[in-house]
Amino acid sequence: MNMDAAISPSADASQNPYLSVTIPIYNEEDNIPLLYQRTRDALDGLKHTWELILVNDGSKDRSTERLDEVAASDDRVRVIHLSRNFGQTAALMAGLDHARGEIVIPMDGDLQNDPADIGKLLSRLDEGYDVVSGWRKDRKDAAIKRNLPSRIANDLISHVSGVHLHDYGCSLKAYRRNVLDGVKLYGEMHRFVPIYAAWNGARVTEIEVTHHPRIHGESKYGLERVIKVVLDLLVVKFLFKYSGKPIYVFGGFGMASIATAALTLLWALALKIFEGVSFILTPLPTLAVMLFAIGILSILMGLLAEMLNRTYHESQAKPVYRIGRIVQAGRIREGN
Ligand code: UDP
Ligand code: MG
Repeated sequence: MNMDAAISPSADASQNPYLSVTIPIYNEEDNIPLLYQRTRDALDGLKHTWELILVNDGSKDRSTERLDEVAASDDRVRVIHLSRNFGQTAALMAGLDHARGEIVIPMDGDLQNDPADIGKLLSRLDEGYDVVSGWRKDRKDAAIKRNLPSRIANDLISHVSGVHLHDYGCSLKAYRRNVLDGVKLYGEMHRFVPIYAAWNGARVTEIEVTHHPRIHGESKYGLERVIKVVLDLLVVKFLFKYSGKPIYVFGGFGMASIATAALTLLWALALKIFEGVSFILTPLPTLAVMLFAIGILSILMGLLAEMLNRTYHESQAKPVYRIGRIVQAGRIREGN
């Protein structure tokens, strides 16, 4: 009997693999050969059927050719070439949309994540979790430029979301398929998937994973990313957590502001009547007018948010990426 075939059954188009590993690739030409080998070896050691979905996010180097070579050499590999660079989150979304496995595992393409950790993530899932998130406890990135700001961002996300993990930004995670149903990602939101999942009742945990320094190529990010992450956190909190009624949030604040304006005005009136202080001589009337205006604006913003919210939910069909072509098993399919 051919043991190799038993250990790594080749992908049969009629049968979905158990594991889908998906990797966004943007200008990683020197990492691709080793990335594929290490990932393949790790997956072959797991005795599950698997597929590897490599999403080429509009690379401008020779990643495109390298990826096609990998696809030509292994039927279990599918390469999705996006039509241009859409960003890591959109590339991940393309991978998730095309993943057919029961378990979906996103990972980075620069070998900073270690494919050898995939087995550990799976064991943890088997303990009864729906999401296992990687924690780069010993992170090998620039301390001041990357690690410190992301520590602050992680604390903030933990606090605001109420879903307590150490490292939301670690790409290496494992999801049960159903957790991802209906998830739409854009901006910097890939890191928030465990949060949506937990809000929807999924059991979420984390384990420490190995993190390697980047050997080839460059990181695509700097400090500006933290700002985007923090702003996206606001979006996530409002659009997803309070998607029911933003008017309650803005309107509540607006009414409190108008009530404070009324009290301030009463105070100014009391001063005038009992102490004879003229309106012109205290800042209170001005303050009252400002608070009133802020209150009205806030209520109007709430209405606007309601309208946007509705538009947002009704425009979910809008794609966050476009596919150029898909390559697998010698076949090329043109995309959307
Ligand atoms: N990436 C991508 N599109 C982009 C930027 C990055 O697909 O526009 C990929 C990149 O090739 C890598 C992963 O996203 O596989 C993480 O990127 P990077 O290593 O630059 O981020 P860092 O590890 O520095 O956070
Ligand atoms: Mg990296």
